[in-house]
Amino acid sequence: MAFLGARARCSAAAAAKVAQRRRLAEDARGPPSPPGSQRAALYVHWPYCEKRCSYCNFNKYIPRGVDEAAVRRCLVTEAQTLLRLSGVRRVESVFFGGGTPSLASPHTVAAVLEAVAQATHLPADSEVTLEANPTSAPGSRLAAFRAAGVNRLSIGLQSLDDTELQLLGRTHSASDALQTLAEARRLFPGCVSVDLMLGLPAQQVGPWLGQLRELLRRCDDHVSLYQLSLERGTALFTQVQQGTLPAPDPELAAEMYQEGRAVLREAGFRQYEVSNFARNGALSTHNWTYWQCGQYLGVGPGAHGRFVPQGAGSHTREARIQTLEPDNWMKEVMLFGHGTRKRVPLGELELLEEVLAMGLRTDVGITHQHWQQFEPPVTLWDVFGASREVKMLLEQGLLLLDHRGLRCSWEGLAVLDSLLLDLLSQLQDTWRQRTPSPVPGG
Ligand code: SF4
Repeated sequence: MAFLGARARCSAAAAAKVAQRRRLAEDARGPPSPPGSQRAALYVHWPYCEKRCSYCNFNKYIPRGVDEAAVRRCLVTEAQTLLRLSGVRRVESVFFGGGTPSLASPHTVAAVLEAVAQATHLPADSEVTLEANPTSAPGSRLAAFRAAGVNRLSIGLQSLDDTELQLLGRTHSASDALQTLAEARRLFPGCVSVDLMLGLPAQQVGPWLGQLRELLRRCDDHVSLYQLSLERGTALFTQVQQGTLPAPDPELAAEMYQEGRAVLREAGFRQYEVSNFARNGALSTHNWTYWQCGQYLGVGPGAHGRFVPQGAGSHTREARIQTLEPDNWMKEVMLFGHGTRKRVPLGELELLEEVLAMGLRTDVGITHQHWQQFEPPVTLWDVFGASREVKMLLEQGLLLLDHRGLRCSWEGLAVLDSLLLDLLSQLQDTWRQRTPSPVPGG
């Protein structure tokens, strides 16, 4: 357990370094791990929850009991296998998500980190995030997670209104959430993120902004705003269908988002991504890897990854999806060393579509340098420079295309989904013109 001790001892220093490194990454504005590099981020999925939230359609299970030692062994085995298959030499961030990973024992978190550190280079200042639900994360557990190597917390606070929390089926109250937040800030200063939801049934703009302002008096340097999405198969969806709850109003949600981002900006937060806000450089390095289309490995039931497997002269980036259901996933890991259910090689155009759709989510957008890292046959100027639709978006002030690259303006970031339709079809058209499909029999 040498690794464990080292991480525990330097956790406070590591937290400071994580913050400093994020600032550097922010300045550098470069991709953390382009495809085919030997660097990657690692996502670890803990699939279990205490109770089903009324809006949730994630891959999660409410078990009678969990054989945690068995799950731990499988997470460790799968991490080792995927690290070997990917040839990754350096893991730059680890993210324990779920489900509710704060229900896992700190020992499990430590075991996974130790396996990663043994298999590859995991620098002491790598960002290691754990998603925590207020009721499963009292102070003593948070301290144990810190000792296990976690140096950043993402708290699923969701609302500061008890009626809303009940509607969402959360297990915590507003005061539980604030207590957890205070404790987390004491243990992980500068490295605590909170999630706040908007667009709930019957939610009004004024009171919601009141919650956000209250949160700003209590929070650390990172806030994520998520709009409720009503998913088929959830209890909330049924209640709305049956008319026992009003349908969420998309216009009110859009107003909350617009007003909320303005409030956050006034409070000194940079909106560095559609849903994410940070001050003092506290950007999430891990999520930045996703938005920059860097490599990442996904470990655990239903986890997703994107990396270039080693061997057979392969240079193709693959999407990998692990088996969803935990018991089946464990059987496969025990048999094969991993529970990969699906591998989908990504074509060149698909990769560029991802680079575009993910990169534009950030305020930095896609720099020319970043685009070139994916070795495209066309430049950003080739694709967008002469497009009439893009010219209109530029004139409307929603988009910018210049010597730095392509990016959304502040106004454009709020309506990215509607811009993307035009931009993706522009890319596809240019691609077809530049790379005509082979003539059959020719
Ligand atoms: S805690 Fe998270 S993953 Fe679990 S049911 Fe609630 S929203 Fe879903």
